[in-house]
Amino acid sequence: MTNNIYFVANWKMYGAKSSLNALNKLINFSKNKKFKRAKIIYFPPYTLIKDFINKFKKTKIAVGGQNCHHVENYGSFTGSISPKMIKDLGCKYVIIGHSENRASGDTDSIINKKIHSAIGKKLNVVFCIGETLKQKRKKLTSSILKIQINNGLKRVKNFQNILIAYEPVWSIGTGIIPNNKELETNAKKIKNLILKKTKIKLPILYGGSVNEKNISYLRNISGINGFLIGSASQNTKKFIDIIKKTII
Ligand code: PEP
Repeated sequence: MTNNIYFVANWKMYGAKSSLNALNKLINFSKNKKFKRAKIIYFPPYTLIKDFINKFKKTKIAVGGQNCHHVENYGSFTGSISPKMIKDLGCKYVIIGHSENRASGDTDSIINKKIHSAIGKKLNVVFCIGETLKQKRKKLTSSILKIQINNGLKRVKNFQNILIAYEPVWSIGTGIIPNNKELETNAKKIKNLILKKTKIKLPILYGGSVNEKNISYLRNISGINGFLIGSASQNTKKFIDIIKKTII
């Protein structure tokens, strides 16, 4: 693992062609050598992937798909998109296991199939894990993280292209973030669970209500190699601010 700090922008089901101009600011910013440790990855909706790839062509900013089907290539799955299709578009990354997709039916076993298929197509995987509020209240966080990691990464041999995004579900879109002790403890747990599987140190990102205000607090938490940012990433100024305040 390098000393890169990851800034992952998840646009969810937001964005139109008219959103593209605002990215010019980010393109100029990304050329600033002072911030070269910032590894920026955008996950636009599928409809804008090609536009984002073209827009970022002469930059180091990478683009990915927000999800994929578990079948690697082609199939009769209306409305779905496969790892092969994502790769064909020019994407380097895919998000798998996001809680919003888990909530709409992605089980650990489906997630595991998706990860195998994505690795098969040489995509880098942002593998999302995290406990719900109910699980946290029942003090099940450790066991949930263990189950999600062990089931999601079952039979995975090639860990080179996997990033873990720890996203407590109760923190996504709520404005509530874990305190530093809690986040540090959970990041350490995740690190140890991964170390049981591979000697490779996978980047561990935090996601959940990261914004330009709380980043000064979050950046000091050890064991975190970057951030997965939803709503604040849809505002380019706020996204740049987050990067600037992390790398000072
Ligand atoms: C997310 O999309 O995974 C996310 C963390 O969203 P938000 O930053 O809006 O909480």
